Amino acid sequence: MELQRLDPTIQLDIRYATTKNFAGRAVYSQARAFLQRPAAQALVRVNQELAPLGYRLLVFDGYRPWSVTKLFWDVTPRDKKEFVANPKKGSRHNRGCAVDLSLYEIATGREVAMTGAYDEMTPRSAATYAGGTPEQRALRDLLRHKMEQNGFTVLEAEWWHFDFRDWKAYRIQNVPFEKL
Ligand SMILES: [Zn+2]
Repeated sequence: MELQRLDPTIQLDIRYATTKNFAGRAVYSQARAFLQRPAAQALVRVNQELAPLGYRLLVFDGYRPWSVTKLFWDVTPRDKKEFVANPKKGSRHNRGCAVDLSLYEIATGREVAMTGAYDEMTPRSAATYAGGTPEQRALRDLLRHKMEQNGFTVLEAEWWHFDFRDWKAYRIQNVPFEKL
């Protein structure tokens, strides 16, 4: 299910379709985001619940073909492997049940400042990192709280990564976006 077709107010910033990502090259030919239908519907609920608070979702990545997970593993140095999925097991992104996201402010349309940047491979990425400003931590925790209320679990090492509860029910896939 394509997220923007379900809810056009979910903003996209698909970094992997640009050179602005840790791999340093575009690994997607299209800037689109997909999730399995129940996960996509849950995400729309999160987006709707955030709106009265002045925020909406900004999605960096959803479903990811397996070949891209393999490429990420190959280009990541050994001491940073905790930030990427082992292709032997595959990623929950490959099952269409994981999403990388942040918030944007409705009033300005701008991405909010969190405790660390997306895909930053440092301790600042931890979901419980105690640094940053109180406002940054409050926004990070708001995102997590709303996601958890709708069936998602945060990855401890990455404040932006969430798995949907039914991920085991879906297979690892390697279909490119243009064939979905
Ligand atoms: Zn992720």
